[in-house]
Amino acid sequence: MRTKIIAGNWKMNKTFEEANGLINEIAKGIANKDFNNKEVVLCPPFLYSEMAADFADDYNFSVGVQNISQYPLGAYTGEISAEMVRSVGVQYAIIGHSERRSYFNETDDILSRKVDKALENDLTPIFCCGEHLDVRKGEKHFKVVGEQLAEGLFYLDKEDISRVVVAYEPVWAIGTGETATPEQAQEMHEFIRNQLSNKYGKNIASEVSILYGGSVKPSNAHELFIQPDIDGGLIGGASLKSKDFLQIVEAMNDE
Ligand code: PEP
Repeated sequence: MRTKIIAGNWKMNKTFEEANGLINEIAKGIANKDFNNKEVVLCPPFLYSEMAADFADDYNFSVGVQNISQYPLGAYTGEISAEMVRSVGVQYAIIGHSERRSYFNETDDILSRKVDKALENDLTPIFCCGEHLDVRKGEKHFKVVGEQLAEGLFYLDKEDISRVVVAYEPVWAIGTGETATPEQAQEMHEFIRNQLSNKYGKNIASEVSILYGGSVKPSNAHELFIQPDIDGGLIGGASLKSKDFLQIVEAMNDE
């Protein structure tokens, strides 16, 4: 049975004190919840990973980062490696977020090297894919997402693909308030699972968690999470407010 995951991507937000407060509120809000086969992942900025991981030791959530370097430890000024984040207790790494692809020119080739670094260091990659608005309007969204998967992930062998989480994030729905309808999201998630199945077989495809991201909020989370191929969410804006995030976690827990 695949794991259901709610991951909060804080992006470049919060001072240390605010981050500490938010982690505290979320940790206490989910304490004592029965999360059998379900996981909450907080992805604060790098600087707060260790603090978050210290909390995570005592509470039932995991910590992720929003990016890792494609390089190993060495002379790469300003970079943060997979080894480093693993050494402070981080378990997940978001790779290929559309903001990284657009603002930092991360290509599929770079992303595949980041996926390798994550897996080599026992981090679970949350591999993001998704189309821009013009692509959807031109009805090329399946083609584009299929290519992102083929180039960023499908070079992996069966064992490694089973260690990856995929996040479908239509770029037109990120931070815009416009969510994909549950039907649009389900249709793409089913497509992604079929692509996995064609490449790796049905059993492996049925074990890979596929998250939806793009303006998920307490009011739409339930409808999205009850779709058969949606295994949770990657949450941006709504992960910055403990009340909203906890309600989204509840929506996963209820369904
Ligand atoms: C994201 O950045 O991954 C995201 C889904 O953002 P938002 O929820 O704000 O649309």
